Amino acid sequence: MIKYVPSQAPVVLEEIPAKVTLAVEISNCRGNCEGCHSPWLKDDVGEPLTEEVIDHLVADNFGVNCFLFLGEGKDPGTLLRLAAYVREKHKLETALYSGRPSVEDFYFDAFDYVKVGPYIPAFGPLGKPTTNQRLYYHREDITSRFWHRGLDPNKKTI
Ligand code: SF4
Repeated sequence: MIKYVPSQAPVVLEEIPAKVTLAVEISNCRGNCEGCHSPWLKDDVGEPLTEEVIDHLVADNFGVNCFLFLGEGKDPGTLLRLAAYVREKHKLETALYSGRPSVEDFYFDAFDYVKVGPYIPAFGPLGKPTTNQRLYYHREDITSRFWHRGLDPNKKTI
């Protein structure tokens, strides 16, 4: 089972370049970031994320063109099934943020965008060239796109 936090499902413009992204926070985080800013996501909190819930989230946020799983939880089978559902049913691009330093190769097939790397305060978030985090689009490292977009370099993304 994958759980999400219903009160934390905003539409964001900065997480994925050139996308209007529906970002859904997933609990049971497998990461262990030194600078964790959402510690409650390490716990088994929230409600089950199902195909029906995804239908409602997409319907309630008409116009989004990317669905971001902010965290991967501890049930990869369900995560991959839901990602495939988003693509096939709603024709949206899919994105995953894993707090782990790296992910298994099949994640790059299941998601259009994959962000890896724990948040480490000394290196900063994606907006800083010193960041240890990386964002891939179909296996291409596109992290540097964040460095030329006039974003607040100190803004922390999950
Ligand atoms: S990915 Fe890192 S910052 Fe996000 S909830 Fe997990 S430990 Fe915290």
